[in-house]
Amino acid sequence: MNPDLLKLYSEFDYLYRDIGLICRDCRDHDCEGYVWLLKDETESLLDIDVQIVEINDNTSFIHSFEEEGDVVRVDKLKPPCRLREAGLCTIYKNRPLVCRMYPVGLVTDKDDVVVALHQDCGYARRLNKSDKQLFFQRVLGILRRTPKALLREWLESYLLVDRLSAFPEGLNTFEVISSLKVILNERR
Ligand code: SF4
Repeated sequence: MNPDLLKLYSEFDYLYRDIGLICRDCRDHDCEGYVWLLKDETESLLDIDVQIVEINDNTSFIHSFEEEGDVVRVDKLKPPCRLREAGLCTIYKNRPLVCRMYPVGLVTDKDDVVVALHQDCGYARRLNKSDKQLFFQRVLGILRRTPKALLREWLESYLLVDRLSAFPEGLNTFEVISSLKVILNERR
C-alpha cells in the first residue's frame, strides 16, 4: 500500500477521532451508494477477499450491487454496503478513503471538482460557524500535506466514477471547502 495513502488515512482518522459519539446516536441511512476505490485499495481489499466490481477495466467498487442471475445490477441506486453488519463496518481497519473521508468528499460543481462537506451527515450539520471554519482549515491542511501525485490519482479516479454515475434522486446538499484544482495548483 502506498505510504502516502496510509498517511492520508491516518490524518482523516485523527480528524474524526470524536465522530463516533455522534454516529452512535445517528439514525440516518449510512453506508449506501457506490463505494469506489483507488487502485491500491482494490488490490489490498482483494487480498482480504472483499468482492470487487470493475467497470470498463478502470473503475472499481466494493461489490454491494444486486445480482440477477449472472447480471450485476450496477444501475440500482444507493446499494447498501454488504460489508456493514449490525451497524458496523466489518473491514473497518481496511476501509477505503471514500469511507474514511465522509462527510468530506469530492463533488462535481458546475465545471469544477470541489472538496465538499456533505450536509446529509449529522456531524456536518452540527458544526457551528466557527467549528466549521476550523474543520475546513484542518481538511485543507491535510490535503496540502498530501503529495500531489496522490491528489491527482484521487481526482482521476473520481472523474471516472463521476462519468458512470449520477447523484441519486433528491438534493445533493453540500458546502464547498475548496476547488481541488486550486489545492493542486497552489502546490509545487
Ligand atoms: S466499507 Fe465499511 S465504512 Fe465503507 S461503506 Fe462499507 S461498511 Fe461502510
